[in-house]
Amino acid sequence: MADAKPLYDTYNRVPIVFERGNGVWLETPEGERYLDFAAGIAVNSLGHAHPHLVEALKAQADRVWHLSNLFEIPDQSRMARRLTEVTFADKVFFTNSGAEALECAIKTARRHFYVNGQPERYGIITVEGAFHGRTLATIAAGGQAKYLEGFGPKTAGFDQVPFGDHEALKAAINENTAAILVEPIQGEGGIRPLPVECMRGLRDLCDEHGLLLILDEVQTGVGRTGRLFAHEWAGIEPDIMAVAKGIGGGFPFGACLATANAADGMTAGTHGTTYGGNPLAMAVGNAVLDVILEEGFLTHVNDVALVMRQGLASLKDRYPDLIADVRGSGLMLGIKCAKSNTDLVMAMRNEHILAVPAGDNVVRLLPPLTVTAEEAREALSKIEGALDMLSRSSSAN
Ligand SMILES: *Cc1c(COP(=O)(O)O)cnc(C)c1O
Repeated sequence: MADAKPLYDTYNRVPIVFERGNGVWLETPEGERYLDFAAGIAVNSLGHAHPHLVEALKAQADRVWHLSNLFEIPDQSRMARRLTEVTFADKVFFTNSGAEALECAIKTARRHFYVNGQPERYGIITVEGAFHGRTLATIAAGGQAKYLEGFGPKTAGFDQVPFGDHEALKAAINENTAAILVEPIQGEGGIRPLPVECMRGLRDLCDEHGLLLILDEVQTGVGRTGRLFAHEWAGIEPDIMAVAKGIGGGFPFGACLATANAADGMTAGTHGTTYGGNPLAMAVGNAVLDVILEEGFLTHVNDVALVMRQGLASLKDRYPDLIADVRGSGLMLGIKCAKSNTDLVMAMRNEHILAVPAGDNVVRLLPPLTVTAEEAREALSKIEGALDMLSRSSSAN
């Protein structure tokens, strides 16, 4: 039967339609322009309609769209080779999304212990406030009640400890533990960075207990924090890493990266996907890498990040009643609000700049990594306009 609203009611959608995008800008059918500091929630890493990506996708569309993974897909091997050349990883499995990359990471860790004679080690320790996706296993990993409620028994094998509590983490390790899974900076949780000492502490703890360290770099990865991957800031390497979002520049795909040792259980027939690593995704992914790996690209990210950081610090000084803190790394920035984060997101939208709310009363700024210093200053002036409007409306009350 026809419903007036035929889509699942799972999203509270903002009633704005964007018809086209160009770089950091999105445009409505009426020609209204918005500065996109949400980037599809850290997805459009190179902005909208990046010419190199458009060309790669169009050229591939003329050749072949889909091949099953029963055949060689040269661009898939090339993409994997390039990823292994610039990371800790020896092996890569391509997926269609972040949650699937996490599923693969979890399966890889469990299977590693299984083939090494320790099938009882399947437990994964995660951190409160985490977000790892919306599949049944990843909501269990994330452990957030609001995502678990009503979906039947929570998938077994995930133990959660408070954020930043190293002692609780140590205490949670037992004979069933296989791995520790964390985001270097919690994204949905509110741009909460794990300090580099904690990241190093986690690596040491894993080594001490023979555990695998799994990093969820779905949001932090591929240049977002000013390094290719956020864990590089701590000078450590994981055993397994989930990537998605920015790596596709807007084309849906993800990847699970692992050392040869961690991936030793993932033999023929143990895992699979119909669409993962398809030629269209690989054409775009290789094009994204062409740009991100170019010399000077990450320097650009760090330079613009500094403009944003300084501008936000000054706004914090001027609006202490509205901004409690500014945090994050690179172009993954969070404004911790003293009042309501959703009010600020709305006020910013009125100024024609898009941002995303996150947990812990934070507004996330996740612009395309190609954003220029000039566009960053334009964003700051729009944010200032929003803060000004909010401070005037609250003093009027
Ligand atoms: C978005 C996100 C995911 C889930 O990715 P999907 O593509 O939505 O499945 C997992 N982990 C983190 C850190 C994310 O930000």
